[in-house]
Amino acid sequence: MAGFQELLSKVRSEIREISVEDTQARAVEGGPVLIDVRERDEYEQGFIPRAQWIPRGFLELKIEDAVPERDREVVLYCAGGTRSALAARSLQDLGYSKVSSMAGGFRAWKNAGFPFDRPRTLTAEQVKRYSRHIMLPEVGEAGQARLLDAKVLFIGAGGLGSPSSMYLAAAGVGTLGLVDDDVVDESNLQRQLLHNVERLGMPKVESARKTLQLLNPDVKVIGHQERLSSENVLRIIADYDVIVDGADNFPTRYLLNDAALKLKKPVVHASIFRFEGQVTTFLPDSGPCYRCLYPDPPPPGMAPSCQEAGVLGVLPGLVGTMQANEAVKILLGIGETLSGRLLVFDALSTKFRTLKLRKDPNCRVCSKPPEQIELIDYEAFCSI
Ligand SMILES: [Zn+2]
Repeated sequence: MAGFQELLSKVRSEIREISVEDTQARAVEGGPVLIDVRERDEYEQGFIPRAQWIPRGFLELKIEDAVPERDREVVLYCAGGTRSALAARSLQDLGYSKVSSMAGGFRAWKNAGFPFDRPRTLTAEQVKRYSRHIMLPEVGEAGQARLLDAKVLFIGAGGLGSPSSMYLAAAGVGTLGLVDDDVVDESNLQRQLLHNVERLGMPKVESARKTLQLLNPDVKVIGHQERLSSENVLRIIADYDVIVDGADNFPTRYLLNDAALKLKKPVVHASIFRFEGQVTTFLPDSGPCYRCLYPDPPPPGMAPSCQEAGVLGVLPGLVGTMQANEAVKILLGIGETLSGRLLVFDALSTKFRTLKLRKDPNCRVCSKPPEQIELIDYEAFCSI
């Protein structure tokens, strides 16, 4: 019977090995998929930037999710190059035609002075709480860590802000900010699930903080009890990665659009009216902005007034949840956002329509360099 050394040299003769120098030179966007096959305690000491972590014991089980294309170039590494050589052989047997094992492993990489990252490790409690996310290869521990490090701002702690902030709190988005200057009123409770009868008269941001904190003590909730204006908008949105716009009035929508473009922040926009809801995503560097669609606010008196127009209570639940979905995808960099598409939902017929939205090359805001964008306070005609 062959000993281990014989087996290893036989395997080495049957696979490709790549040096740390070549791996480093090729570890760029569009280069090979780098997979770290070491155990958790090794991985936590540091890993090669951009590498995916799939411990050796799970490699065959998870490789098809991580790398669906069998002809994609894959480089495996372990601590010293032995486990990755055996793993490369196994992937060849699975039909992967361009697999290499990095000779010398992570030790050689470190000795060569190449950069490495340390993972943001989750606590045992977090691993348990977010296990259904971690099981998804598209999210995993790295994605969950990214959510925990992310900051999302909600404009409005009302109908749309309720489901979007509750789902993002549950999902473990680490910092949630809410902008709202209103207090809880009985007529809010028909749809604004952040609040309840014990909170009547309480500032909405305070009521929201209590609800979100109970849902997930792991997240930090920041209340901005003020109305957005050209004076405060840049200061308020500056710290956040994504803005979820659930504003119920036109002046805020325009102001937010312009300010977000100025600071290059993605905005997940939604509006609701009677039985109809609309959702889209505005990205700072591509696709249309709100003003590409509606260059100017409607004249005062023409806009449907928010307090007076009725709305089906369930509707913001559906629409706000879709905003949360958009925000999570932007934060994780997965899937396809609604940028350039307007999703229209009709609650009466239960029908979705998607309208294509085009960027206006002459848009007076998004065609300008950000530093030239000026902020305008429109009259609050919602209440006129
Ligand atoms: Zn535009």
